[in-house]
Amino acid sequence: MLKTSGISVAPLSVPERLLLGPGPSNSHPLVLEALSSQPVGHLDPFYIDLMAEVQDLLRHVWQTSNRLTLPMSGTGSAAMEATIANIIQPGETFLVGIKGYFGNRLADMASRYQADVKTIVKPWGEAFSVDDIEAALIKYKPSVFALVHAETSTGVCQPMKDIGDLCRRYDCLLILDTVTSLGSVPLFLDEWKVDLAYSCSQKGLSCPPGLGPFTMNQRAEEKLNNRKGKVPNWYLDLSLLNQYWGSDRVYHHTAPVNMNFGIREALRLIVEEGLENSWDRHRKNAEDLWQGLEVMGLELHVKEELRLPTLSTVKIPKGIDGKAFALHLLNKFGVEIGGGLGELAGQVWRIGLMGYNSQKKNVEKVLNLFDSELPKFKE
Ligand SMILES: *Cc1c(COP(=O)(O)O)cnc(C)c1O
Repeated sequence: MLKTSGISVAPLSVPERLLLGPGPSNSHPLVLEALSSQPVGHLDPFYIDLMAEVQDLLRHVWQTSNRLTLPMSGTGSAAMEATIANIIQPGETFLVGIKGYFGNRLADMASRYQADVKTIVKPWGEAFSVDDIEAALIKYKPSVFALVHAETSTGVCQPMKDIGDLCRRYDCLLILDTVTSLGSVPLFLDEWKVDLAYSCSQKGLSCPPGLGPFTMNQRAEEKLNNRKGKVPNWYLDLSLLNQYWGSDRVYHHTAPVNMNFGIREALRLIVEEGLENSWDRHRKNAEDLWQGLEVMGLELHVKEELRLPTLSTVKIPKGIDGKAFALHLLNKFGVEIGGGLGELAGQVWRIGLMGYNSQKKNVEKVLNLFDSELPKFKE
């Protein structure tokens, strides 16, 4: 007998939000339009051409010529896991630079693939120096070193000068997390000698969550080709995915076709604006935000030369309930800002200006809200 549902559900109506937190950011209207197209078959010639376009666009925003560059089905964490699953063999030494929440996630994932995980740690809000990294490479002799470029939990942008050269000198592959930098913060993967990198669709690219751009160079491909045994994760296995995204077009899993429509449009919009113009826009709007907050007497958590344009951490003044303030902005004004994560929980707000949301009017809006609403939360 049919069980009656007993449920009465109204048609979906999503409240309007301005997402100025750590992600997702709002999607560009043209991306939303692309997403609402009818799907086509994932082996349709139209779609096959579109796949090649997405790959070319990703290579451009990453400034790489890596053949194996594609959007993984899944969010940024899926692409993160893909780098580890494909490149780590059991027992190998995997070194992670931990200076925030996402470094810890990398270490956790690598341990699940039986890596011998070593870590170097910095206080949340700081970055690694080349000397820190060299000392750790000498001490642990890792075969892979992973680092987060844009640490969304702290608002720090890791300077990348000389790190790739160092990894080559000590014969180690370099993984870079570019989840909160792709499209919005200068990135030069090939110049920086990064061997594997990943990102997401919902931060700097202004597309909804659902895809995790992934790339690996020839050095990493060689390691993958020479590995003993299968990649211990079927869904994220690049040797299989390569047969779909490469010239063979062998079915692996049904691609999330509409998400790929969306990311194509998102990437096209970046190219239309100009990659460097997008980087400059993010920088300019972030600087205006920092200045406006400081004029109000608020303090930023990260010193200026390490600040990330896409995400700013603002210290919560003494005596203010940071969570209640963020909730007030959301409920009363539909504006989302983030709270602190991990070690910074309760200490900072996180304000994101990513992709489509990095606009002068949004900077003004959030500054005006801090100006008018924060005094109401002072004891
Ligand atoms: C958001 C984020 C991730 C995880 O991406 P998801 O899309 O949430 O899975 C990984 N690394 C960094 C630095 C991030 O900001």
